[in-house]
Amino acid sequence: MLTDPPKYQAWRRRMVEQLMKRGITDTRLLQAMQKLPRQWFCPDTLLDTLLYDIDCAIQIDCNQTISKPYTVAWQTQLLKVSPSMTVLEVGTGSGYQTAVLCEMGARVYTVERQSVLFRKTKALLASLHYPAHCFLGDCFNGLPEMRGFKYDRILVTCGATELPMGLMQMLNTGGIIVIPIGPEGSQKMHRITKNGETQDEWLDETLGDAYFVPMLEGRNFTK
Ligand code: SAH
Repeated sequence: MLTDPPKYQAWRRRMVEQLMKRGITDTRLLQAMQKLPRQWFCPDTLLDTLLYDIDCAIQIDCNQTISKPYTVAWQTQLLKVSPSMTVLEVGTGSGYQTAVLCEMGARVYTVERQSVLFRKTKALLASLHYPAHCFLGDCFNGLPEMRGFKYDRILVTCGATELPMGLMQMLNTGGIIVIPIGPEGSQKMHRITKNGETQDEWLDETLGDAYFVPMLEGRNFTK
């Protein structure tokens, strides 16, 4: 049973206050994070005092992690999401970020390469009535079943060694991608605004250090 004790609601209020002190100002994002119980997306075995610590990343299945609340907020704010925009998320993981985007009114498409996480999170999001479209596969260059479709925003929640051109092709003109890029240990967060079809029209902003699990190739069907 998914519960949300009053103690957690109070902790979320404190989390949101701390996010605001760190420069998060997007009202709909803050409302989404205030509303969404993070414990539903975390392992039951987790020490609950860590749930709403804004600097605590959490280990989930398949040796992957849910990003820290601060990182979720930072990336989402950079993405400048408005209601009814189409957003592609690369790296579904626990589904927490997916649910934040749904709460903000986005139409969310999300891709995960680990079949265990894909199955578990797809079922969880459906049971919570989030209308996210979940796909299994390696999204480095987009998936065959998604070809031809373009998104207003792309959010990458794993670290890429270079900017995936296949993803840039899936971005609408005027669209924004937020993506950590670089070798593990020295990734930087990038926000790239696709102001035109040719690369010299793209605005690439490098926005600080990032620490993400690597973006890997291929599907993983183990387990
Ligand atoms: N947004 C997630 C963060 C999960 S960690 C959350 O809120 O929980 C990043 C995820 O990206 C991992 O689950 C990993 O398996 C996945 N991933 C890594 N490379 C990928 C790829 N090429 N395509 C799709 N997913 C990928």
